Amino acid sequence: MNTKSRNVINKILELLPPNSGVVRIEYEGPRIALYTQNPSVFLNNSVIISDIVKTIKKRIVIKVDEKRRKDENEARLILLDKIPKEAEVSTMLFDEALGEVIIEVKNPHLLSPDKGFNVNEIVNEIGWRIRIKKASPIPSQSIQHVYYTLKTTEQERKAFLRSVGEQIFRDRLTGRNEIRITALGGFKEVGRSAILVETLESKILIDCGINPGAKEPHEMYPRFDLIDLSLEDIDAVIISHAHLDHTGFLPVLFKFGYEGPVYCTEPTLSLTTLLLTDAIKVATMEGERYLYDMNDVRKFISHCITLPYGLVTDITSDVKLVLNNAGHILGSATIHLHIGEGAHNIVYTGDYKFDRTRLFPPATYIYPRVETLITESTYGAKSDIMPSRDETEKMFINAINEVIREGGKVLIPVPAVGRAQELLLVLNEFIQKKELIETTIFIEGMIKEATAIHLSFPEYLTKELRTRIVDQGENPFLSEYFTIIEHPDQREEAMAPGPAIIIATSGMLEGGPSVQYFMEMAGNEKNKILFVSYQVPGTLGRRVLDGAKQVSLLDENGKIRVVDIKCKVQKIEGFSGHSDYNQLIRFVSKLRGKVHRVIVNHGERKKVENLANAISRFLGIPTLQPNIGDSIKLL
Ligand code: ZN
Repeated sequence: MNTKSRNVINKILELLPPNSGVVRIEYEGPRIALYTQNPSVFLNNSVIISDIVKTIKKRIVIKVDEKRRKDENEARLILLDKIPKEAEVSTMLFDEALGEVIIEVKNPHLLSPDKGFNVNEIVNEIGWRIRIKKASPIPSQSIQHVYYTLKTTEQERKAFLRSVGEQIFRDRLTGRNEIRITALGGFKEVGRSAILVETLESKILIDCGINPGAKEPHEMYPRFDLIDLSLEDIDAVIISHAHLDHTGFLPVLFKFGYEGPVYCTEPTLSLTTLLLTDAIKVATMEGERYLYDMNDVRKFISHCITLPYGLVTDITSDVKLVLNNAGHILGSATIHLHIGEGAHNIVYTGDYKFDRTRLFPPATYIYPRVETLITESTYGAKSDIMPSRDETEKMFINAINEVIREGGKVLIPVPAVGRAQELLLVLNEFIQKKELIETTIFIEGMIKEATAIHLSFPEYLTKELRTRIVDQGENPFLSEYFTIIEHPDQREEAMAPGPAIIIATSGMLEGGPSVQYFMEMAGNEKNKILFVSYQVPGTLGRRVLDGAKQVSLLDENGKIRVVDIKCKVQKIEGFSGHSDYNQLIRFVSKLRGKVHRVIVNHGERKKVENLANAISRFLGIPTLQPNIGDSIKLL
């Protein structure tokens, strides 16, 4: 044991009351676990823990000594006996690695102390920590996949968490602070986001995506080949959100020998599992071998350490991490790195929305200190001003009504995650208000699964949605007007003559059912392709949007098909999960006075240039626009 660890443990021992019953202190990833034979001491007096945390400034978790832990089956029976039937338990996952049981129930509000449910008493009896979650009314396969992986890897995860902890809580090698970042992807472009942050003590990778629009390997993946870095040297990977341009290359790290932790929020873990698995499926259907396989996805899941928003967590000997709401998609986070005990702070925005949407509150702008801000600039041009949400919704409904009135069909290609759920809320509301002409809305692709994941994490949604889901037991994403297409055979119904609205993935017409519908619909001038999200250059969606009159595609049987585009094509701007130009400037200006430099990334070259120039001219903050491969010394 090193000096730092010894000091921390001695401090803890000093602060423990004499009857604490603590028999063992051990690392569990970024937390210090105290194993006690007398959990009631802590359960009945939360001040003990908060005092220790305040003094040692490390995360602490109280565990019941394994000798006192009931075996799984016995514990399950006790829980089923104590939990009122009306709460309706759907899943119970005993995770040995964390000594924790996740209990999913339909009605979590019935499990409160005023309803006579005493969690502490049960913890004391069974010796497992208890986490109660709201069960989604639609079961999510991705969450089941995550649970299954956690269950089948519990022994290796136990060892993994201990070794991660030993790394985090080791002595520092030097007292000096030097910080450098290297742009590996997502600079002067959108796609394959990746940044390496290096100090004298640690190497941290932020995001690890692919470029969905690129065709050549040197444009598709982060440029690890430009630097001298062995994957074993990376201490931690942090993921801002689940979109593949931020996560798509992650399993490849595991394939080639990375064995460290990945930090992200809990919904990001489930959504990333969904998207990474789907990428394999799509490639397999096209007869290709993909970049990675399910075993690499499994390694990703078992190496994930999830964090809620706002929690300060040590991730290396000199870096603390806080994730905060980014307002972009479910679980999306800004990444705040606090380096060297106050030496420097980096805030990386990831993709963010600095405005309220129907799904999420605006991105957090409250950071105690930010010396270096790294901001995205997807909509960084002066002309990138989006209409207000209200106007957007009206335009959207009009754009649909025009087509329905003429008897045409509207195809809305959507990314499964984010916009789809928002559109479902909008369509349902306007059809109820009778402002949208009544017609069947067909939904196909990963939307159903992504919606199930949204319903499983209501605490990440707006207060209004949370109340509807948790307190009123509603599913706000469901409507009698929606028909979910589970199998391609059912597409005939959607393609039958007459008006219809079709919402299908993928959002950029790169694979998925949206491409099949596009091929059927593009030739008829009555129809309309209605885009609601950003189209990466190089994708089919972008070519259609830019006015292509003819495109050739591979159909379901792998045959080349030439498609004439006669239908209408329209883009509605305001639904974006990204900040528009004004919102970007407003966000940065909120941090004025704190920020010493702004580094602009995640935007086409022109957008990066414009946003960087505007920030230095109007806000007086020095800016940088690095190219891929550039290293910048921050301290
Ligand atoms: Zn994104």
